[in-house]
Amino acid sequence: MEANSLLDKIKNYEAGKPIELVVREFGIAPEDVVKLASNENPIGTNPSVQRAIAQNADKAHLYPDDSMYELKESLASKYEVDDEQVIIGAGSDQVLEFISRAFLSADSSVLMSQVTFAMYEIYAKQMGATIHRTPSYEHKVDEFLAKYREYKPKVIYICTPNNPTGDAISRDEVFEIIQGVDEQTLVVVDGAYMEYASAKDEKYHISPKDLIEFPNVIYLGTFSKAYGLGGMRVGYGVANREMIATLGKLRPPFNITTLSLLSAIEALKDDEFVRESISLHKEQIKRYEKFADENGIEYIDSYTNFITYLFGDRYNSTEVANDLLRRGIIIRDLASYGMNAIRVTVGTAEQNDKFFANFREVSS
Ligand SMILES: *Cc1c(COP(=O)(O)O)cnc(C)c1O
Repeated sequence: MEANSLLDKIKNYEAGKPIELVVREFGIAPEDVVKLASNENPIGTNPSVQRAIAQNADKAHLYPDDSMYELKESLASKYEVDDEQVIIGAGSDQVLEFISRAFLSADSSVLMSQVTFAMYEIYAKQMGATIHRTPSYEHKVDEFLAKYREYKPKVIYICTPNNPTGDAISRDEVFEIIQGVDEQTLVVVDGAYMEYASAKDEKYHISPKDLIEFPNVIYLGTFSKAYGLGGMRVGYGVANREMIATLGKLRPPFNITTLSLLSAIEALKDDEFVRESISLHKEQIKRYEKFADENGIEYIDSYTNFITYLFGDRYNSTEVANDLLRRGIIIRDLASYGMNAIRVTVGTAEQNDKFFANFREVSS
């Protein structure tokens, strides 16, 4: 049976490999597998969220509050915006999908960095849109504005900090891009790792409140990284009311689960967990920088919870990733992004020890 021919051009998203695969293929005990491939929070699930889930385990037969009033209120108050300026998605991924469906078609195009979050391309291609990329893997304002003038894309994706490279652009640079485009182009500011960037350098902190005055800008955030809820699938978009109302037309009813909804509400009550996550991260990422320096490996200065090692002609990223995988260490090979590099989520001290020890062995 013939499917929509647009789908022929789409390469499936390559998700980080699951622990189950390593257990199955290499016979390694699940507790010995070190998963540093998907930028999950290494501290684990916030204990107060765990308690809330346990206490509400008997609510799985009930649909969630479809208005998601309490979660929107909590986000609105955190960001000092109105609850009508917030939309909730099953991960910010789903908000990206709404954006694509609302604004793209076969005669439109999108602009993104050379190397960036793979889902931007996939959702855009689902609508038949043409993909344009800047030449550099890092976000460069001049490159974005030059390509914008050349192609007049309908949507520009600014992933700051950027996944899978870890670089970021400053708030001022984001404003330069926004102010350099007209209101018919939507600028998506994807802040999936913003908590880490803000903690590293205030200049890189972007608050959705700063963006809300622009009719053509949306900010995306997620509970999957600093809040440690990747498995619950909750993300959000913050924009002006009209934009949120437009995207709302594409939202299916009950698009996150009852337990996801209450997890996100609970997570927002506990800033301490995020602070702890960031402080562990700050301490541990220094070890990755030192390890790279000592071993003559180049890396990209990271504003995220992962670090990207650039191998140049020293090692082959695919070989290193496969060798580590056989030893139960899951990291991300960036060969499919055209880079001879690996992306490693900064883990707990113990996980990182295992990464360093095994990396030494596979690279010698
Ligand atoms: C992780 C991530 C997201 C969203 O993840 P969800 O789990 O769908 O909320 C969005 N953008 C980037 C760049 C990411 O790395």
